Amino acid sequence: MNKSMVYLDHAATTPVDPRVVEAMQPYWSHVYGNTSSIHTVGRAALKALDEARRTVADILSCHPTEIVFTGCGTESDNLAVRGVAFAGQRAGRRHIITTPVEHHAVGATVEQLDEMFDFDVTLVPVDGDGRVNPDDIARAIRPDTALISVMYANNEVGTIQSIAEIGKIARARRIPFHTDAVQAGGALDLSVEKLGVDLLALAAHKFYGPKGVGVLYIRRGTELVQAMTGGGHERGHRPGTVNVAEIVGLATALKLAQESRESENARVSHLRDKLVVGVLERVPDVRLTGHPTERLPNSASFAFKGVDGESILLTLDLEGICVSTGSACTTGETEPSFVLKAMGLPREWALGSVRMTLGHATTEADVERVLEVLPAVVERLRANR
Ligand code: PLP
Repeated sequence: MNKSMVYLDHAATTPVDPRVVEAMQPYWSHVYGNTSSIHTVGRAALKALDEARRTVADILSCHPTEIVFTGCGTESDNLAVRGVAFAGQRAGRRHIITTPVEHHAVGATVEQLDEMFDFDVTLVPVDGDGRVNPDDIARAIRPDTALISVMYANNEVGTIQSIAEIGKIARARRIPFHTDAVQAGGALDLSVEKLGVDLLALAAHKFYGPKGVGVLYIRRGTELVQAMTGGGHERGHRPGTVNVAEIVGLATALKLAQESRESENARVSHLRDKLVVGVLERVPDVRLTGHPTERLPNSASFAFKGVDGESILLTLDLEGICVSTGSACTTGETEPSFVLKAMGLPREWALGSVRMTLGHATTEADVERVLEVLPAVVERLRANR
């Protein structure tokens, strides 16, 4: 990548930490065994897999047998939501509680369960900051509720949900509780005991690990119908020959991220706050979207009134600044993001959404560069409308 490029899209993905690349290196052509083979070569691979599982379990404060390695965050969410929903259905429970701001990995899954498999889905609304009220979750519970799924932190606006409070409610009513923690992996506390969750999904590429590998934590005793059938890998939840190199990468990345979590959060949130204050000061008719304080430390998301977010993105890209937008161009006409819609943001604001997510390599100079370029970009785009 061009050295002068300013990359502010760490919520989309992160570069792999060189220490992670190094840790993965032996597991391509040196320790290449199949973890199911009981000979020496297979056992060496299994040892690495066991170690990686222990590392992740320690961070999540759970037992290693509760960790399932998967192919990505989407897969973890699917295995959890489908698995618990179908197990519930077999026991006569067909009601699912979730929110309207979930990532598609959960949102599209519950939609399909609703439309094709006879489930009833309650979407508990969020407030203007994107937060769901735990009391509203409690009120939505029915005798036939099979699953509650609420994301830990939102990918678009960075808002963090009160997972521990919802966890207490779910536990008291003995309802399986899943959280999509894909955006939270590198930045927040992942202790499943403190959070009170039964299922938790992670993806390595959000915390400087490789793409295409994820984790699903499944609390012992949680009933799931296995979505995939095959060999017995990953206790049958994710059959298929195990990707040892990537799993070692995931475990290494998670350990590094969690070890430096406090200092990195402090560093990056300081830069993020500078960026937010600077944008709000220098650009007229802009607001911060998402919760002002209960948000991921690296996340700044804005709505610019009367200007198209995608045009801002493309113009900034020409200036060497990578950001993202929440709006989606589906039928040729840009639609505001469903997250901002659910938060009640008026269309003329929601269409101008831009997300900037900082990371390890982000510097003061990067923030200054954005603050130098962005006001003129927005002014020019508004003038040309
Ligand atoms: N959940 C959230 C909140 C996400 O942000 C993402 C990816 O952006 C996913 C799930 C899906 O993860 P993956 O890309 O690893 O499938």
